[in-house]
Amino acid sequence: MRYLILSDIHSNLEALEKSLALAEGKHDQVLCLGDLVGYGPDPNAVVSLIQRLARTIVRGNHDKACCGLSDAEDFNFLARAATEWTRSQLTPENYEFLRNLPAGPIPVDGIELVHGSPFDEDEYIFDSLGAIQAFQSADASVVFFGHSHHQGGFLLTADKRLQPISLSTIKDDEPATVTFRDDARFLLNPGSIGQPRDGDPRAAFAILDLDHQRVDFYRTPYDVAKTQEKMRAAGLPEPLITRLEIGR
Ligand code: ZN
Repeated sequence: MRYLILSDIHSNLEALEKSLALAEGKHDQVLCLGDLVGYGPDPNAVVSLIQRLARTIVRGNHDKACCGLSDAEDFNFLARAATEWTRSQLTPENYEFLRNLPAGPIPVDGIELVHGSPFDEDEYIFDSLGAIQAFQSADASVVFFGHSHHQGGFLLTADKRLQPISLSTIKDDEPATVTFRDDARFLLNPGSIGQPRDGDPRAAFAILDLDHQRVDFYRTPYDVAKTQEKMRAAGLPEPLITRLEIGR
């Protein structure tokens, strides 16, 4: 079984469609780690597409905020402005769909899916402290997380050594492979489709191949200018528009 793992799409249809085109024929099912909406210009198209494609979707903090399950008070003013715009755009059906998304962790085929961290769906895993807390609270030996918009993750060896997984030199549309080991646990972030923040503006995703016990990480360039144009037309905040081209 091969799973396409998508996270942090953030209403970016161009990035999502480009990623789906590249992943075509390379996977059997789709899993989504949340944040379908927020920031970008196409909330309804993205929700409809993911609803149709994904076998399992974990809700993200922006999904909760954009459908009124949380008040977005802990968001900065830019994220809050995008949240309010998204609320005004969502169809009643898509609003309701977001309201009914389940919180992580969700087990699928022996792995665990979360948006933030296994012990708190809104917690970020950025550093070794966050990673150790996540490993301690997770049940599975392989956990996929999103929320940080940083592709990569951590592995924890049987003798409790924590190592970051760094994927800094991925070529366009070519996989960087991480192979599982029996003596280690893995905490993996496929990266963000619609708003990468690891300094690389290309859309990011991963494909988990359970038969071969490996994960292929991808980066793919997409039409950033087209997404930016739509955001300007929608009146979304300028800093959210410019950050897409630098991946921060
Ligand atoms: Zn996000």
